[in-house]
Amino acid sequence: MAGLLFGTGGIPLSTAKPKNLLNGIRRIAELGLGCTEMEFVYGVRMTEADAAQVATSAQKYHVKLTAHAPYYINLNAHENDKLVASQERLLQTAHIASLCGASSVAFHAAFYLLDPPEEVYPRMKKILTGLLTEIKRRHYFITLRPELMGKPSQFGSLEELLNLCSEVEGLAPCIDFAHLHARAGKVNSYYEFVSVLKQIEKKLGRLALDNMHIHLSGIKYNPKAGELSHLNVRESDLKYTDLLMALKEQGAQGMVICESPNLEEDALHLQETFNKV
Ligand SMILES: [Zn+2]
Repeated sequence: MAGLLFGTGGIPLSTAKPKNLLNGIRRIAELGLGCTEMEFVYGVRMTEADAAQVATSAQKYHVKLTAHAPYYINLNAHENDKLVASQERLLQTAHIASLCGASSVAFHAAFYLLDPPEEVYPRMKKILTGLLTEIKRRHYFITLRPELMGKPSQFGSLEELLNLCSEVEGLAPCIDFAHLHARAGKVNSYYEFVSVLKQIEKKLGRLALDNMHIHLSGIKYNPKAGELSHLNVRESDLKYTDLLMALKEQGAQGMVICESPNLEEDALHLQETFNKV
């Protein structure tokens, strides 16, 4: 992947009616953005035939695609039926996303449910290793990307993700810098952002910086609960210009998916800022 592409989490708000993915992809190209994340967050309701159309359209407009799996996934669920359903949802997302030509699936892996994090980690490792074996067997050409989560009750700290992705082949992190800031209550300066990128490179190799998947937005948070809600970048304390400088300075490549409420407005602002710094 050459350079850093910017795009929206979900189709742009300014997409023409009917507001579907095909029109959304065209709108991304019109706006001069480079990518978009298909939000299957309330379930995967796309047929194989529609996915093929999406793939054709994305190729035609040179828009790179990724997918976000349903929110209703908890790979640490204690009830077996919930655990099986969670895995099925992830596989179903991987199936449709790969037919769309998407490169990866971001997902919220788990809640600790009061279990000690050190017990949840090996469970995640075992389940994800199994899921990736199944994905390979079914010939889905897709990378699974557990997301860096914004609440201390959720599995997915920077350290957990870097360990997991270094130990499980086929897994790569989705680095959400807003969540990282909200979760830790820090990581909000140029030097801290550079340090995070250096940690990623040290743990996962240069390839990880050459193919990053980043989520970005402003964020509202408090020290106890972590993430409360997403904000537009200029209404939040997140030092996104410092982050963009660090990404540029470290030569990061891949995709930046903007998850601000104003979607394309911030995606364009982030892209312009990145080009200027
Ligand atoms: Zn997410």
